[in-house]
Amino acid sequence: MPSQLHGSPPALGIGIVGGGQLALMLAEAAQEQGVALHLQTPGGVDPAVGLATTVLQAQIGDASATLELSRRCSAISFENEWVDLDALAPLAEAGVVFLPSLESLGPLVDKRQQRELLGRLSIPTPRWLPLNALGSAATFQPLAGLEPPSNPAAAANFFDSAVPWQVASPVPASAVAPAEGQPSQGEGGLPLGWSFPVVAKAIRGGYDGKGTLILRSTAELGRLLAQVDPALWILEEFVAFERELALVACRDRAGAVACYPLVETHQHHQVCNWVLAPAQASHGLEAMAHNMAASLLTALDYVGVLSIELFYGPAGLLINELAPRTHNSGHYSIEACSISQFAQQVRIVAGQPLQAPALTAAGALMVNLLGNDNGEAERAAALTTLATLPQATLHWYGKQGSALGRKLGHITVLLQATDPEERSREARQRLEDIRTIWPLPAHDWA
Ligand code: ADP
Repeated sequence: MPSQLHGSPPALGIGIVGGGQLALMLAEAAQEQGVALHLQTPGGVDPAVGLATTVLQAQIGDASATLELSRRCSAISFENEWVDLDALAPLAEAGVVFLPSLESLGPLVDKRQQRELLGRLSIPTPRWLPLNALGSAATFQPLAGLEPPSNPAAAANFFDSAVPWQVASPVPASAVAPAEGQPSQGEGGLPLGWSFPVVAKAIRGGYDGKGTLILRSTAELGRLLAQVDPALWILEEFVAFERELALVACRDRAGAVACYPLVETHQHHQVCNWVLAPAQASHGLEAMAHNMAASLLTALDYVGVLSIELFYGPAGLLINELAPRTHNSGHYSIEACSISQFAQQVRIVAGQPLQAPALTAAGALMVNLLGNDNGEAERAAALTTLATLPQATLHWYGKQGSALGRKLGHITVLLQATDPEERSREARQRLEDIRTIWPLPAHDWA
């Protein structure tokens, strides 16, 4: 048996597959609620290990360990979306309860299936296409790229409604049927109406921007096509968004749905840098995001916390990504909401009704502490200083290793200003103070 049981004798509680910082904060919430939390994680010193009721030390994908985990709990949930649905299906058939269920996770575990789901539900996303609908690497060789593209079939397919894709606004007829004498494709072999930069995304396994590439030329696209299996990638338009927003939503076993406030997120080299709650958004915008969340949760018969990453700009509100779990954009809820996203997930997985979340402060700023260029001593001193900041709570994940850009901890500051403009200024000032103490990595680590 590859797994190993540590800790005290098990009590019936909830199971979590994964042992990183999200599991750590779930374990903290479970402890506060007196709910036993049993963990399956490979590393003996993973962040959540110290707080779990029991730990099965096994790989995340080890279904036999998950079966063992199921004997200690009433329901199992996941720390992240890298779930091997096929391996777990026999467990579900044998009566193991997964929340969210494997059926609701099915369309969420890869980015292509997410886009197909959003298309079916008519929820707007950036325009996208499967990378293998585009043509072969040969079409995109640096020199060939200068010639007229030679894959009209792929372009025709792309605009065929049978190809799953979704746009923010209907495609104008002129884009589908080029005027006489006009090329049938866009820049450098891209579909008509597209131009560089474009964004390529691995459909599975990406996080913190890993697996997300911004391609600036035909040559870069050709290089990618030559290096990857295009069936495992999608290509999408680069969205000139004004702001990135995020929404944590949840649904309980009885089908009740609730949403946390819409928040604004800011990324640095595609990794979340800070989050401001609440976002400055009209009621209409907030309602639209809530409607999208409710449609998704209900259509999927989803039980648990689900997080939505959004772009907002001239094309309106577009969903970038769905995360079937708690999320970095909801960490502020620990200090600033009547119930945190973690406590909510514990409640729901343990079979209790959801508790409607409300802000308990005028606002909050969450700042990620990423592995930076400072040495260990400097970082230790910085943590001591951060811990003394007023109205602030420091979370340190206790990870082994501090690679550049790695999420090592975060700090949440409660904001005082009730006026949104003033709150925004207050947040900027607090962010500046925090970044003076704990700078971002100086150079691109990706
Ligand atoms: P991950 O799954 O690693 O979080 P995302 O798809 O969310 O990757 O991308 C990470 C970040 O990259 C986003 O938060 C956004 O800032 C940027 N990004 C992703 N897709 C696009 C896009 N189509 N247009 C512009 N920026 C994008």
